[in-house]
Amino acid sequence: MRRGGAVGYLSVLGASFVLAMVAGWLGAGIDNDAYDWMFRYQRPGPAHSRSILLAVDEESLANLGGMPNLRQALAEGLERVAAARPRAVAVDVILADVGDVAQSAALASAFGKTPNLVLACEMIDQGRRWEYPRKEFRAAAMGHVHVEPGGGVCRQAPLMKVAGRDRRWALALEAYRLSHGVQDIIESPGDLQVGAATIPARSEESRAIRIRYLSSPIERVSLWELKNHPEFAQRFHDRVVFVGVTAQSAAADRFMTPLSDAQTMAGVEIHASIFETLEGGRFLESASNPAVAGLCLLLAAAGVAAFAFRSGWQAYALAVLVLAAAHAGPYWLFTHDVVFPYFAAVSAAWLSTVGAGAFQFVTVRRQLRQSEAQTARYQQAVHFVTHEMRTPLTAIQGSSELMTRYNLTDEKRKQIADLINSESKRLARMIETFLNVERLSAGEMELKQETFAVREVLEACLVRARPLAERKQIRFEVGEVADAALTGDRELMEYAIYNLLTNAVKYSPAATVVTVSGRADGERLRLAVRDQGIGMEQQELRNIFQKFYRTGRAVESGEAGTGIGLSIVEQIVTHHGGRIEVTSAPGKGSCFTLVLPAQFAGVVRE
Ligand code: ADP
Repeated sequence: MRRGGAVGYLSVLGASFVLAMVAGWLGAGIDNDAYDWMFRYQRPGPAHSRSILLAVDEESLANLGGMPNLRQALAEGLERVAAARPRAVAVDVILADVGDVAQSAALASAFGKTPNLVLACEMIDQGRRWEYPRKEFRAAAMGHVHVEPGGGVCRQAPLMKVAGRDRRWALALEAYRLSHGVQDIIESPGDLQVGAATIPARSEESRAIRIRYLSSPIERVSLWELKNHPEFAQRFHDRVVFVGVTAQSAAADRFMTPLSDAQTMAGVEIHASIFETLEGGRFLESASNPAVAGLCLLLAAAGVAAFAFRSGWQAYALAVLVLAAAHAGPYWLFTHDVVFPYFAAVSAAWLSTVGAGAFQFVTVRRQLRQSEAQTARYQQAVHFVTHEMRTPLTAIQGSSELMTRYNLTDEKRKQIADLINSESKRLARMIETFLNVERLSAGEMELKQETFAVREVLEACLVRARPLAERKQIRFEVGEVADAALTGDRELMEYAIYNLLTNAVKYSPAATVVTVSGRADGERLRLAVRDQGIGMEQQELRNIFQKFYRTGRAVESGEAGTGIGLSIVEQIVTHHGGRIEVTSAPGKGSCFTLVLPAQFAGVVRE
C-alpha cells in the first residue's frame, strides 16, 4: 500500500468509527426494534412459573360491583388465597384514599391473615414524595410499581426509585425477597445481593434490569372464578401471588412488551414478569461503553482492512464476512445475555466497507489513468527519439556512401570522416542519456564521491553551451558565483547544469540574455539560471520533472525535446542532497535554481 493510500484508508477508518458511534447514539429506536425482534425470535421455552395472578378482569368487575366495590371483592378473594397458604402476595392496587369504611375494614382484616404481604406505593408531585397505602393497611413491605416504557414498549424496570428522601424497592423485588425469607438487600455499585442471588443492577441507572418475559402468559385466576370455584384457591398454595386489575377498561398501566404483537399487558402481569426474571436468575445486561467502542472499532478496522490489503473478489468476500459478523454478532451476544447496540455495529461495518471500497475504486481508477498517461507519453517519446536518431544515422549513412562511391580529395575525406565521427558521438550521447534515466530511476547508478569546485563545472558547461547560444545571439551573463566546493559526481552535476543552460537557450527567443549566478545561502549554494524566454503556465510547473512531460508552450515553440532532461536533473540533484526551485510566468521567462549542500572558501566576482 502506498503512503497516500494508507492515509486514505485510515481516514475512512476514523470517519466510519466516529459516524458509527454517532449512529449508535442516534439509533436507539432502531436498537429497541432489533432487541424486540431478537427477543421474539429467541422465545424462551415455557418456564415453570412460580408466580400466579389474582386478576380483576372485566368479568369480575361486571359481576362484583365494579370499581366502587373493589375493596370488598378483594377482601373476599384474599381471604381464600390466604387460606391456601401462598408464599407471598403482592397487591398492585393503590390504597391511598379513604374509600368505603366497611370495605376497607374487611380488606385490612384479609391483609392481616396474608403472609408476606407487599403493598403498592406510588410517586406523586412529580416524583417529590411517595403516596403510601392508608395506615389501616399493614404490610410486610411496600414496593413501587413504576416501570420504564421506552416508546410505549416496556423492556426495562427500575428496581429502585427515590422520591424526596425515601427510596423504595420494586414491588416484584420485595415479593422476591420475602418469598425467599431474606431480611436485607445488600447493595454494591454494580449489583444487588438478595440472599444467595446476585442481581446485576447498577446504582447509577436506578438499578434497572431488563425484563425477560415468559413465552406463555402467566397463570391466572380471576376474582369471579375464585368466587364461583372455591377449590381454585389450591392453585395459590406455595406460589407468589400478584393481585391487580387486568380489565382493559379499568387498568391505567398497560404497556406493550417485546412479545406482544398488538396487545398491551396489564401492569400487574408486568410486575409478575419482573418477579419471574429475578426468579429465573438469567439477566440480560447491556454491553459496557468501552466494549461497544472496542467492538465497533474492530468491525470498522476489519471492513477497511478488507479493501486496504486485498482487492477484487477476495476483498468483497471479506467485506461480506465483516457485514455478516456485524449483523449476526449482536444476536449471538443476545443469546449470551448481552445486549449490544445493534445499529452502531451495523453502521460501523457498512460505513467502513462501503467507504473503503469506494476509496479503493477511486485510487485504482486514478492509478490506471496515470499509467495510461505515462504510457502515452512514453510512446510519444519513443516516436520522437527514433525520429531524432534518424537524423545522425542518415548523415552517417550518406557520408559513408559518398566516401565509397566517389573519388574524393583527402581534405574532403577528412571532413566527411569528422562528420561521421561527430554524428556517431551524438548518437552515442543520446543513447547514453536514455540509459542513464532508466538506471538512475532504477537506483542502479552509483554516485561517485569526489570534491570539485562549482566554478570549474559551471565554466565547462558554459564553454559547451556557448556555440548553441551564439547561433541565436543569446548572451550568457555570469553574475556573482561563490567559491564553493561540491561533493558528489562531477560528471552528473555537469550534465544537470548543462541541461539547464541548454533549456534556457532552447526556450528563449533570439537576442536575449541568460543570467547565471551562484550565491551562498548558509550551508547551501543557490545556483540559478534565469532566462527571458517563453516561460511556463503555473499549473504546468509541477509536471515538468515528470519523465516525457513537455509544456504546451514548448511543443508550440517547435523546439525539439524529449521531456526527460529535467527528470534526470531532478534525480541527480536529489541524489546530491539538494532540490530544485522553479519560478516562471508565460512570456516572462523562467528561473531554475539548484539548491545544493556545499563548502565555501570565499566569494569571488567574475
Ligand atoms: P525537453 O527535452 O523537452 O527540453 P526537459 O525535461 O529538459 O525536456 O524539460 C521539460 C519541459 O520543461 C520542456 O519540454 C519545457 O516544456 C519545460 N522547460 C524546461 N526548461 C524551460 C525553460 N527554461 N523555459 C520554458 N520551459 C522550460
